[in-house]
Amino acid sequence: MLFTYSNTHAQHAPSTIIVRGNPIQNWEQPARAEQLQKYLESAGHDAVPTQEWDRKWIAAVHTPDYLTFLESAYERWQQFIAKNPEAGKGPAGSAIHAHVFAHHSARQQPSSIQGQVGYYLSGGSCPLDQGTWAAALGSANTALTAASLLQQGVQEAYALCRPPGHHAYADMAGGFCYLNNAAIAANYLAKHMGRVAILDVDAHHGNGTQSIFYERNDVHFVSIHGDPNVLFPFYAGYPHERGHGAGLGYNLNIPLPLGTEDDAFMAAVNHGMSSILNYAPGALVVSLGFDPFLGDPSAGLAVSTEGFRTMGKAIARYQGPILLIQEGGYVIDHLAANLSAFLDGFLGSR
Ligand SMILES: [Zn+2]
Repeated sequence: MLFTYSNTHAQHAPSTIIVRGNPIQNWEQPARAEQLQKYLESAGHDAVPTQEWDRKWIAAVHTPDYLTFLESAYERWQQFIAKNPEAGKGPAGSAIHAHVFAHHSARQQPSSIQGQVGYYLSGGSCPLDQGTWAAALGSANTALTAASLLQQGVQEAYALCRPPGHHAYADMAGGFCYLNNAAIAANYLAKHMGRVAILDVDAHHGNGTQSIFYERNDVHFVSIHGDPNVLFPFYAGYPHERGHGAGLGYNLNIPLPLGTEDDAFMAAVNHGMSSILNYAPGALVVSLGFDPFLGDPSAGLAVSTEGFRTMGKAIARYQGPILLIQEGGYVIDHLAANLSAFLDGFLGSR
């Protein structure tokens, strides 16, 4: 199998996130992608270097003001803390963390950097650091390069994206995500290969992806995730969210109780795949998170390594071209084994 990768991801490495007021070690570390890359090469999969892409494919799903913010925020923040040194002290180091977040009923856009960080960054788990923009751009280009392989006739490709993307809205970062790699790739494929389905099996609801395609009927979004009432992202991911306008009926959320094990998770995957097969897309994008894994610090589901093998087989029921996009997964020592099991089930059934 071909996979795409860019080592620019390593430029993004904020040490700390803020969880309920506490600075804790950032789970979303460069070692995640490095472990996966090492495994893929040792297993004989072929790396395709990430190419630079026209920014129009990123601008197709993100707003111009948000992209300008991401690109310039670090430099503007350094200017701000040079004048306000107390803002640069503390456990977050040089990374940007907001003081106040824009509430949904009060979203006036300020022009100051200290105001904008709480407007565009939706919580404590999306710090911006010096290399964040370069890494996010590299991650989006990694997804686009893999999508272009499908357009060239490749039947399955894996984009080793980092940072992940599915929590990024058109104009807002969140949950370790800055640019929505899956949405950028799905929109690209929808322009070249007919309508597209996205299956999001990350433990957390793909709120950014849902929002981006909520009013579209050329992209069918299906997300399987822990109950958002008690798990990030909290404010989206409920079953009644079915799309709006032309997109009504093209959004499907399948939340599961915390503690869900293999059998119930796979029943949800099969339910989601049935909806996708009925839709008969020209290509399938999989937002592939390994954080449903038992013991993941970010989630609370209980899928086993064998469960990922079963999941790979179930996804292979779709017989058209499939693009796998790496999302979350924070038990770093088990990432390679979980990807290996998934690919074994997936490629063995293709
Ligand atoms: Zn996740």
